[in-house]
Amino acid sequence: MMLWTVKAVGLGVVALALSLELLAWFLRRHRSGRTLNEVLFFPSELACVEQVFNPSSPHFPSSCSPSCPLPHGVETSFSRLLRRILSATSSLDLCVFSFSNMDLRRAVLALQSKGVTIRVLTDKEYAAITGSQIGVLRKAGICVRCDTASVYMHHKFAVVDSRLLITGSLNWTLTAVQSNKENILITEEPELVQPFIQEFHRLWVDNDPARHRYRASEPR
Ligand SMILES: [Zn+2]
Repeated sequence: MMLWTVKAVGLGVVALALSLELLAWFLRRHRSGRTLNEVLFFPSELACVEQVFNPSSPHFPSSCSPSCPLPHGVETSFSRLLRRILSATSSLDLCVFSFSNMDLRRAVLALQSKGVTIRVLTDKEYAAITGSQIGVLRKAGICVRCDTASVYMHHKFAVVDSRLLITGSLNWTLTAVQSNKENILITEEPELVQPFIQEFHRLWVDNDPARHRYRASEPR
């Protein structure tokens, strides 16, 4: 009788250990396979973003001047946003009403120098305003198309590597990042990413300058 009890308890312990192992495996698997979803609110705390651009320097980035007055090693909404943009390895499709933020310009140019294919779609009127970085992007050889419709091209979204969607109220301006109350949703959910890819494609084709030349020569 005693022996049976010992055997039963032993088996119970083995079963418990196995099920715990199974649970741990399941949780690990579940966690690593989770779709990325992130929400950011602005205005962002002010902090130095040198480390985002140069992640190899662990503490005080060497590229940052010793007199840099900004806090370091602080994770902010803006540093998170920058990191997501800089995660692009093959493509960045950007559809934004207003683009004047220097750090975001730097991020786009950094991606371009890494060989990432960049397409920018923006509003015709806002591309021409003072402080707009659209001209700088164009000069750097980035493909930019301006929406020529009579209404504003008011979208603010980006698709990274045809996989990650960044969308919300935030224009790519300093005021939006540092002063305004804004929101950003970052997601890898295919059901949400796909319609934005399609919308970008539609607007990109619609605003092909070659197409407009053709249209202009059509009889009215
Ligand atoms: Zn700094």
